[in-house]
Amino acid sequence: MQSSVSVKDLSLNFGSVQVLKSLNLDVKQGEFIVLLGPSGCGKSTLLNCIAGLLDVSEGQIFIGGKNVTWAEPKDRGIGMVFQSYALYPQMTVEKNLSFGLRVAGMKRDEIESRVKRASEILQIEPLLQRKPANLSGGQRQRVAIGRALVRDVDVFLFDEPLSNLDAKLRSDLRVEIKRLHQRLKNTMIYVTHDQIEALTLADRIAIMKNGEIQQLSDPHTIYNKPVNLYVAGFIGSPS
Ligand code: ADP
Ligand code: MG
Repeated sequence: MQSSVSVKDLSLNFGSVQVLKSLNLDVKQGEFIVLLGPSGCGKSTLLNCIAGLLDVSEGQIFIGGKNVTWAEPKDRGIGMVFQSYALYPQMTVEKNLSFGLRVAGMKRDEIESRVKRASEILQIEPLLQRKPANLSGGQRQRVAIGRALVRDVDVFLFDEPLSNLDAKLRSDLRVEIKRLHQRLKNTMIYVTHDQIEALTLADRIAIMKNGEIQQLSDPHTIYNKPVNLYVAGFIGSPS
């Protein structure tokens, strides 16, 4: 089967520092991949390259079989959810959800039906006329996910979407993201430094260290058969 997202020999340098080192990653259609590793190992950088927010130094990126290495973010068929909510503060939730679609020139009926569907799925219908300042952290993050959802993209990229939330909300939203994936069956690439999140969400986990993937396996294999001490230590495998 053709890969949904394919990263080939990707390197990225910030000045003289090589932050991604000839990295390869193949994500299958509909797969939930978690990029897991400590702060500074290059997770966000990799995600931002896939999103088109950073220019790569070397290598290629394919999405849906198309070479998008130099494509604009909007032409990549991806939706992105960040740690900070990045909502428009002056707009209602409804406007936050519809803004990108209006800019893209979509018909009003189509916009309305997409906003309706996304707000049902995420259970934010009662919040549509509120502004972000009047939402809780969890509600804001739902709206942020909704903004990716209305675009009806094949690939979702999440960068630590839950790390600003308290423990209870984090576990609630984790369950919802999992449900969302089971319902939409789209491809998800999800960055976290939280082992529990990785083990509960992922079809496969990529353990990263210093700009390289140390192991890419299903959670059971990562936990029970770590390839080295770094992976074992990071995932908390019994020694
Ligand atoms: P992670 O998301 O895993 O915490 P990042 O991808 O944000 O890691 O960062 C990887 C490395 O690249 C870090 O050492 C970070 O300091 C460095 N870095 C990130 N962004 C920049 C930038 N714009 N300029 C220079 N160095 C950067
Ligand atoms: Mg990061």
